[in-house]
Amino acid sequence: AATALDGDMDAPRQRGQMPNIRVCALFRPLNSKEKSDHGDTISLRGIDSESFVFKDEKEEELEFRFDRVFYQGSEQADIYEFLALPIVKGVVNGVNGAIITYGQTGAGKTYNMEGPSIGDCDEKQKGLLPRVVDGLFNYIQLLDEITMYTIKLSMVEIYMERVRDLLDLSKDNLQIKESKAQGIFVSGATEISISDSAEALRSLSSGIANRAVGETHMNMASSRSHCIYIFLIEQELKKEKRSRKLILVDLAGSEKAEKTGAEGRVLEEAKTINKSLSALGNVINALTCGSTGRANHIPYRDSKLTRILQDALGGNSQTALLCCCSPSPSNASESLSTLRFGARAK
Ligand code: ADP
Ligand code: MG
Repeated sequence: AATALDGDMDAPRQRGQMPNIRVCALFRPLNSKEKSDHGDTISLRGIDSESFVFKDEKEEELEFRFDRVFYQGSEQADIYEFLALPIVKGVVNGVNGAIITYGQTGAGKTYNMEGPSIGDCDEKQKGLLPRVVDGLFNYIQLLDEITMYTIKLSMVEIYMERVRDLLDLSKDNLQIKESKAQGIFVSGATEISISDSAEALRSLSSGIANRAVGETHMNMASSRSHCIYIFLIEQELKKEKRSRKLILVDLAGSEKAEKTGAEGRVLEEAKTINKSLSALGNVINALTCGSTGRANHIPYRDSKLTRILQDALGGNSQTALLCCCSPSPSNASESLSTLRFGARAK
């Protein structure tokens, strides 16, 4: 039976288990506003495919190293191949996975997740989501033909620590629960069985469209909520049902609240986002520090975000974090904070 959110199933992490996390930095091309402000000046100098020098606001140079750097004009296909493909293969083979885009509003999180338009863009520009969907169906077909697989999709949004169903807007304030059979799950969230890529894209498109409707209704901006795509893959075996999941997260913008002027709801939103992003950082750090051999406590319960991600982060799950940045000096301070978040996750 499902246990409520406040059950006590926080198991200490097993000794010596290394988290399997891949952290990449991505710089989108300069936009026209940035070009008109600073011309072609950018705040980074590439060294190689893993490292670069970043110039902060005070023109101080800092060197960063990631598992991979995607410079301006990188191909969506390359990003998918490096960041997501190993995770897609892992999920098909039975290991949970998570793919997360982090960064300030306007840094390219949604562009990398969805592409310029989820259901309708050319092959070259397709984002991670449609590629992941194709990958899942391709690899599952290669598995043995006797076993039955089903892929189900849920889409939820976390805004001000409330979980809302993007596939059915009448479902709001959903609770996160845990059961032996399902692990962590969003109780009551719509699950759509998808049998091919086209069907998946239709559901994704309608969820994304719903997100926009809800925003207008609640008078919020999409950049203030975390958008979560959950693919549940179930395998029917003779005696049991085995399942694993792949979670993609398009995080809320990581920018600091305006130093002056932010008040009321805007300030509350900023505080809530900050809290959940710190919680994510803390969970990832606790997992990364697990290599000291100490059975450490992983604070999954500090936010709805980390709780939903719990069984797709840590254990033998595979995680990818894409740290999205603007290359412009005008955004140097936010880019630096994004790069530091990524560097801390390693
Ligand atoms: P975020 O989701 O982080 O707020 P978006 O993904 O919406 O940011 O990107 C902001 C703007 O920049 C959008 O207009 C988007 O089309 C554009 N953009 C982002 N990344 C790229 C890219 N790699 N190439 C071209 N345009 C991009
Ligand atoms: Mg976005």
